[in-house]
Amino acid sequence: VFDTLMIGGGPAGAAAAIYAARKGIRTGVAAERFGGQVLDTMAIENLISVPHTEGPKLAAALEEHVKEYEVDIMNLQRAVALVPAAEAGGEHEVQFASGASLKARTLVLATGARWREIGVPGEAEYRNKGVAYCPHCDGPLFKGKRVAVIGGGNSGVEAAIDLAGLVAEVTLIEFMDELRADAVLQKKLASLPNVEIIKGARTTEVNGDGKRVNGLTYEERASGEIRKVALEGVFVQIGLVPNTEWLKDSPIELSPHGEIITNERGMTSVPGIFAAGDVTTVPYKQIVIALGEGSRAALGAFDHLIRS
Ligand code: FAD
Repeated sequence: VFDTLMIGGGPAGAAAAIYAARKGIRTGVAAERFGGQVLDTMAIENLISVPHTEGPKLAAALEEHVKEYEVDIMNLQRAVALVPAAEAGGEHEVQFASGASLKARTLVLATGARWREIGVPGEAEYRNKGVAYCPHCDGPLFKGKRVAVIGGGNSGVEAAIDLAGLVAEVTLIEFMDELRADAVLQKKLASLPNVEIIKGARTTEVNGDGKRVNGLTYEERASGEIRKVALEGVFVQIGLVPNTEWLKDSPIELSPHGEIITNERGMTSVPGIFAAGDVTTVPYKQIVIALGEGSRAALGAFDHLIRS
C-alpha cells in the first residue's frame, strides 16, 4: 500500500512524486507513458531557468530526477477505474488495463490532456514542422511569418489575437458559418489589421514541401470550391481533451469539459484524492504550471496524511 500514488508521469506526476518522496513516505508513480506530452514536443523555451531544451531530453531529466528518490515507477500502466476508499482514512484503489490494481492512502491524479486533432493529411506529418497546438509555446517560432489558426471558439480566437502581435499575418479558419468565441474577443479580433477570418471552411489538408509546412487547403463549404493559403504555420485550436474518461464512473467531480475540479490545495471532491496539471480546471496548460501544481498536490496529500 502506497502512502501516495501518482497516476500519470508527465511534469505534474513527476513533480508530485519528488515532493512526496522527499517527505519520506511510500511513493509510487503509475503512468501509461512516463514523460507525457513533453515526449511529443520539440523545442521548449519557456521552462524558466532552462532557456532551451527538447521534449525527450526534458522527459529523461524528469525521470532521472524522480529516480534520485525511492519512488516505484510503473510505466506502461493505463488506469481504467478508480474505487475510492469506503470510509475516511481508508485506501483508494486504482485498477489498470493490465489487470493489476494498486492501493494508496492518497492519490494524485495527473493524467494530463491531449489536443484534439483535425485529422487531415499533413497534420501528423508536419507536427512540430509547422503544425503546432500551443500558441504560448510555439508562437515565437513564427515571428514575422504567416500562420493559420484553425478553430473559431474562444481558444482559437484568443490564439489568433495573441499570434497577430507576433507574426506577419494570421488567417483564422472556422468550419461553421459563425465564430463561437465570446463577443468581446470577436470584436478585438476584427479590429486587428493583419487578421483575415474565413468562415464556413473545412480544412482538407496541411501542405508542405516534405520538410516543412508551406500551405493549407480548405473547402469553401457553401460552394464546394477548394482554396489554398500559402503560409508557414498552422495552429490547431479545436479543443484540449482531459484524460478523464477512466473517471467517468467515479465520484470525482468534473467540470462540464471533463476536467477535474480541485480546491486551493489540489484536492478533488473526494477527500484524500488530489489532482494536478492539464487534467484539472487550472487555466493555461503549461509545463511550468503542471510542475507547480504537482508539487502543490503532493504537499496537499502529505498534509492530508498527517491529519488523518
Ligand atoms: P501530461 O504531460 O499530459 O502527462 C500525463 C501523464 O499521464 C502521462 O504520463 C500519460 O501517459 C499519463 N496518462 C494519461 N492517461 C492515463 C491513464 N488512464 N492511466 C495512466 N496514465 C495515464 N508546455 C510548455 O510549457 N512549453 C512548451 O513549449 C510546450 N510545448 C508543447 C508542445 C506540444 C506538441 C504539446 C502537446 C504540449 C506542449 N506543452 C508545452 C504543454 C505541456 O506539455 C503540458 O502542459 C504538460 O505536459 C502537462 O503536464 P501534465 O503532467 O499535467 O500532463
